[in-house]
Amino acid sequence: MADKIPATLIPGDGIGPEIADAVVAVLDGLGAPFAWENQLAGMAAVADSGDPLPLQTIESIRRTGLALKGPLTTPVGGGFKSINVTLRQEFELFANLRPARTLIPGGRFDRIDIVLVRENLEGFYAAMENWLPINHDPKAVAMSTGFNTRAECARIVRYAFEHAVKNGRKRVTVVHKANILKALTGLFLEEGRKVAKEYEGRVEMNDRIVDACAMQLVLDPWQYDVIVTTNLFGDILSDLIAGLVGGLGMAPGANIGENAAIFEAVHGSAPDIAGKGVANPLAMLLSTELMLRHVGRIDLAERLTKAIDTVLANGLRTRDLGGTAGTRDVADAILQQLR
Ligand code: NAD
Repeated sequence: MADKIPATLIPGDGIGPEIADAVVAVLDGLGAPFAWENQLAGMAAVADSGDPLPLQTIESIRRTGLALKGPLTTPVGGGFKSINVTLRQEFELFANLRPARTLIPGGRFDRIDIVLVRENLEGFYAAMENWLPINHDPKAVAMSTGFNTRAECARIVRYAFEHAVKNGRKRVTVVHKANILKALTGLFLEEGRKVAKEYEGRVEMNDRIVDACAMQLVLDPWQYDVIVTTNLFGDILSDLIAGLVGGLGMAPGANIGENAAIFEAVHGSAPDIAGKGVANPLAMLLSTELMLRHVGRIDLAERLTKAIDTVLANGLRTRDLGGTAGTRDVADAILQQLR
């Protein structure tokens, strides 16, 4: 039997523990090779030790280099800094991978298969902000500074091209706003064009201005294959493509660095439905499909995809998709397909 791969499991807050239970049960049924190290983060960790990101959790991820994370609740307006952002910075998770594939055929956006690669560390998302006072108004002017480094632009675009090569994809679209933000996103486009030359004959490259891309994603999403873009644009466009294929309950994600990778659903902790057993576990489960590919178990990733597709084709739907199935019903139906 193949060796087990140590992996950190952070069930998270809200619906996190219930969807994590369902996902781990499916992975066990699939024979996935992960040996889980259970760790806490977020409100669950605050309740346990007072620390939203305990050192033990960080050390576990450093050791395993691989984590599956449930959603974490971020207190609004105060409290602690977003753990998700802290983890991204701590492990230099420079690439955010957000695939969107039509899982429920027959809708308006059938046969969508787009992968969005978002730069995860720089851009306007760095949120370096300040106020300028005028007269008696301390907040008369709001300022925000964005930055992109040449090295990071090249690294993220190269990641997108490598992803295209490894997954048999044909085209990478570099999305920018270089007509207006000539420095910030001009550099991104410049590096995009440079890196694309290394892949000539293997992967095609084109570029789009972000506003035009947003419109085309709604009018004709089928023209897109792999999209690579800066942090803030990627944040917005990745939710747009999630919307094309059924919304948050179906949107998986991965944060990838050189030494660690953290896989998670795009959605949050959904406090409105937590503890009711009705959350859709598919987004987190689809994140584990990415995780299986990441560790080279394409065979298991494909088996899992097939089982999910069959269960959806048979009509099983959670509440967010207009059905009545609970979290556990989805896991059980997929497990049955895997037997
Ligand atoms: P949310 O994604 O938690 O919920 C938005 C809506 O989508 C809710 O109506 C919810 O019920 C529904 N929903 C989300 N996931 C679902 C699922 N799997 N199945 C069925 N329905 C689902 O967004 P929010 O309400 O803005 O945020 C709640 C908390 O989550 C906040 O504290 C926020 O900071 C945090 N958050 C965490 C992450 C993360 O850890 N990656 C991401 C986004 C938000």
